[in-house]
Amino acid sequence: MAKLETKLIHEGEEHNTTKSVVSPIYQTSTYFVSEDIAEFAHSTSTVKFPEFYHRHGNPTSSQAAAVIASLEKTEDALILATGMAAISTAILAAVKSGDHIIAQHTHYAASRTFLLDFLSDYGVEVTLVDQIDNEAFASAVKGNTKLIYIETPSNPNLEITDLEYIGKLGKDKGILTMIDNTFASPINQVPAEYGIDVVVHSATKYLGGHSDLTAGAVCGSKEMIAKVWKRSLLLGASLSPFDSWLLLRGLKTLALRVRQINENALALAQWLEKQPQISKVGYTGLESHPQHQLAKKQMKGYTGMLVIEIEGNDAFGKAQTILNSLEVFANAVSLGGVESLIAHPASMWSSSNEEQKKKSGITDGTLRLSVGIEHIEDLIADFSQALAKI
Ligand SMILES: *Cc1c(COP(=O)(O)O)cnc(C)c1O
Repeated sequence: MAKLETKLIHEGEEHNTTKSVVSPIYQTSTYFVSEDIAEFAHSTSTVKFPEFYHRHGNPTSSQAAAVIASLEKTEDALILATGMAAISTAILAAVKSGDHIIAQHTHYAASRTFLLDFLSDYGVEVTLVDQIDNEAFASAVKGNTKLIYIETPSNPNLEITDLEYIGKLGKDKGILTMIDNTFASPINQVPAEYGIDVVVHSATKYLGGHSDLTAGAVCGSKEMIAKVWKRSLLLGASLSPFDSWLLLRGLKTLALRVRQINENALALAQWLEKQPQISKVGYTGLESHPQHQLAKKQMKGYTGMLVIEIEGNDAFGKAQTILNSLEVFANAVSLGGVESLIAHPASMWSSSNEEQKKKSGITDGTLRLSVGIEHIEDLIADFSQALAKI
């Protein structure tokens, strides 16, 4: 059995049927299949058949899917055009009208909107619970509960859901469990080891890793991926050949990048915790994180995501000053790339109402950081000069 770093480079190489070391880009919408109509029929109906028509599959996305499935320790995976395509297509493959889903109060904003606004129009009922309260998940189970959908660490406040508990709850009650594993990446957290059935990703973030593509992944059993693939044929969010190729290329350095990011983020979090201008640092790797012990149990590393809270009055103005003063950290949405980014959730989620923001723990002084792979001394120096201005 090859180790993770080797799998990142060599897994799924059988999908490259040419002699080139690096897989080519198949920039085509359609493939010359065969003049044998029996073979043609087989190609149209085979799940993810890689050389038929683009919406059915593509050799490069099949290779990227093989790499991600092997990291997530699931039988199979499907690559789609965005993280939201992966999430919505996977959920639509898991539930139908009349079914019930248990999810969390805190999710990536678009996932939350999909769960609450979109699904209700299609007769799917959703109950939101507090993710740090195991019992709340169990109490929410009803006769028609078909899916438990979790996200951990969650966006933006980095709360942790207990994977072992949820995996077991799903198995005991015969309910499918699904996780958004974007923040952790499979380097830091492998939910299948805890019995979680389906793993979804915004591959736009750590998996791609260079902020140059959008993509999504769904990982699960062969049976589940076949169902998701059937939905994806109709919803149509296929990833382009070039972006599949960029994703495959980005994956090769995933372990190196994430380890450096983990190391940088921990060092920065420890430094920020000592600064008087900052009242709180939320980082799952700090002893001060209320769920650090649980994070330690189920995560191999603590990611590049951290939140800080600005101390005192006029937090909005101070947050603005920091954003304007930082030179290495760029004020931009998204995360998980090699470059450090910072965002102000209160203004980013202006579409959420005040109560929602409060539930997610967002204030005017909250800043969310995605730490990159720059030198740690430059990251600390950047914050040092920016904090000196408030
Ligand atoms: C970005 C993100 C998504 C959505 O992914 P897109 O690629 O932007 O569609 C979903 N979940 C989490 C946790 C994310 O960070």
